[in-house]
Amino acid sequence: MGPRPRAARELRAPRLACRELVELLSDRLEDALPAAQSERVGAHLDTCAACRAYLAQLRTTIVVLGRLREQDSARPSVRPAG
Ligand SMILES: [Zn+2]
Repeated sequence: MGPRPRAARELRAPRLACRELVELLSDRLEDALPAAQSERVGAHLDTCAACRAYLAQLRTTIVVLGRLREQDSARPSVRPAG
């Protein structure tokens, strides 16, 4: 029943936080991430199912956006909807 040192929590340098990871993921998908960072991301993904799911979603989104862009450039004259 002794007092718990609050500082210990901060000293325990955590793995990459999920919130940080989310930001790094988009860079990683664009190959804009340094190798060291990319490794950290990979290590986190190994242990974090939530971030793996997010990554899968992100990839899907990017694929979809890529297709939309291709369609746009293939058809420059887009008729207004309606
Ligand atoms: Zn995570």
